[in-house]
Amino acid sequence: MKTYETEFCIIAAGPAGLAAAVQAAEEGVSVIVLEKSARVGGVANAGMGLLGIGTRYQKEQMIDMTVEKAFGMFMDYTHYMVDARLVKRYFAQSAETIEWLEEMGVEFEGAYRYFPQSEATWHIVKTGKKIRPGAATFLNRKMAERAKALGVQFLMETTAEKILMEAADGSDGRKRAAGVLARTKDGEEICVRAKAVLVATGGAGANPEMMKQETGYTFGKDMFNFAFPGITGDGLRMAWEAGADHIPVRVEQSASLGGLTGVPDCVSNVFYQPNLLVNAFGKRVMNEEYMQNTTFLSNVVSNQKNRTCFSVIDSSIAQYYAEHGVDVVSMVRNDPDVSGFFDGVKTAQEKGSECPYVADTLEELAEKMGIDPGTFVETVDAYNGYCDAIDEEFYKAKRFLKPIYKAPFYACKVVPSGYGTVGGIRINENCEACDSAFMPVPGLYAAGADACNIYNDSYMFLLPGNSMGFAVNTGRIAGMEAANYVQDLGEVNLDN
Ligand SMILES: Cc1cc2nc3c(=O)[nH]c(=O)nc-3n(C[C@H](O)[C@H](O)[C@H](O)COP(=O)(O)OP(=O)(O)OC[C@H]3O[C@@H](n4cnc5c(N)ncnc54)[C@H](O)[C@@H]3O)c2cc1C
Repeated sequence: MKTYETEFCIIAAGPAGLAAAVQAAEEGVSVIVLEKSARVGGVANAGMGLLGIGTRYQKEQMIDMTVEKAFGMFMDYTHYMVDARLVKRYFAQSAETIEWLEEMGVEFEGAYRYFPQSEATWHIVKTGKKIRPGAATFLNRKMAERAKALGVQFLMETTAEKILMEAADGSDGRKRAAGVLARTKDGEEICVRAKAVLVATGGAGANPEMMKQETGYTFGKDMFNFAFPGITGDGLRMAWEAGADHIPVRVEQSASLGGLTGVPDCVSNVFYQPNLLVNAFGKRVMNEEYMQNTTFLSNVVSNQKNRTCFSVIDSSIAQYYAEHGVDVVSMVRNDPDVSGFFDGVKTAQEKGSECPYVADTLEELAEKMGIDPGTFVETVDAYNGYCDAIDEEFYKAKRFLKPIYKAPFYACKVVPSGYGTVGGIRINENCEACDSAFMPVPGLYAAGADACNIYNDSYMFLLPGNSMGFAVNTGRIAGMEAANYVQDLGEVNLDN
């Protein structure tokens, strides 16, 4: 078997693994990165930017954001169920991380909100083109370039399969990480001997069995998450086998529209607006103003019958959006022009898309949605009354209250979705993987989505950029701590 030797073996080249590689190499440690796919960057290649707290962008943009404020918000949000030391270390480091990235050539557009009620913590990567999904590819590319310049060796299309553990002197009989067994794309087994190992494989978003087992959601039935190939929970399994504690894996919640096939963005953009939202009983379930916080929306939908809600409009609302643009523009769907809505609906119908449902009467629309028509009509009547006065039911702001009266009527399913999974490996604030007694497994580190246990049950979208921010910052922390560990360990015989 071909054997490599290094001080620090990093499993995977997503943003967590790349940040760890650069950081550890900057500290003078030799590094080998094993990456399953042919490309660095992982899921983050689809993303746009990372969290920063107290950055120069926020100061320049006069955004009131401090570590103290973010930390307080975060701990309140999570009911103090998460590791305050880790959260504090992550937030306190995050502004310097933005500068660290700039030093390697990453540029940022500035600090942005994801939706109106969120804070401007999302540092979107500049690409030289319009702000758009995928911008973070530039961030990953720069980190990989910097890592290579520092001498980091990348073994691409090489899948890590097992963490090697060996007896360690002076650690009460507990074993320490000593390397990784992996397989090349040609099926050849290789061994990387190392003094420290980092697991950063991005969770289990593309592993329906593991998702079901760990979170209870069934992919394609009540969960429609992003499932990027390769994100199959390998790191979780390997770390648990190596002695790390198995703690809850959660879905990094978001919500999406269901039943749409071949529908242009202008149609979906309309249904993501703060329209009337009803459940399977035809009743309202939230102040729809908060729908843009897709964590909240997904939580609402997940707790309804059939885990499904419906976003409902009439043709006067569609016409209003078509003429004036949508009310809420997001950075992800950043084109307010939905003038193609009516043509888009026709295209959807021609393509046999289940949604949007279109009907000439509210009763007919209710039947298409599978809702009792009587209750649905009552809900619409009450809602139209709020549009004339105030929303006594859920206090939605007046500017979002638009009556539903003009045929044809339209509705689209809203279903739970997610960016992938988060958490599963217990870590401490040094990103050391810990066992069930909360003791570090010597030489074993975890970062990014595999170790992201800081949200409790719901992704913290009020501070956007949080998951990529966690990945890059915990990658750096793991890089620093692993560098200290291997340097303290000194010479060990890797042939033991
Ligand atoms: C569409 C989309 C948009 C997003 N946008 C944002 C955003 O703008 N801001 C934000 O904060 N978050 C965003 N996220 C979330 C963010 O991208 C993730 O939290 C982040 O990428 C996690 O980083 P990671 O390094 O832990 O894992 P990943 O980025 O998932 O990378 C994991 C890597 O592990 C590799 N791998 C897996 N198994 C093995 C193995 N056995 N051996 C070797 N390699 C392996 C994979 O090939 C992959 O390269 C977005 C997510 C999605 C899906």
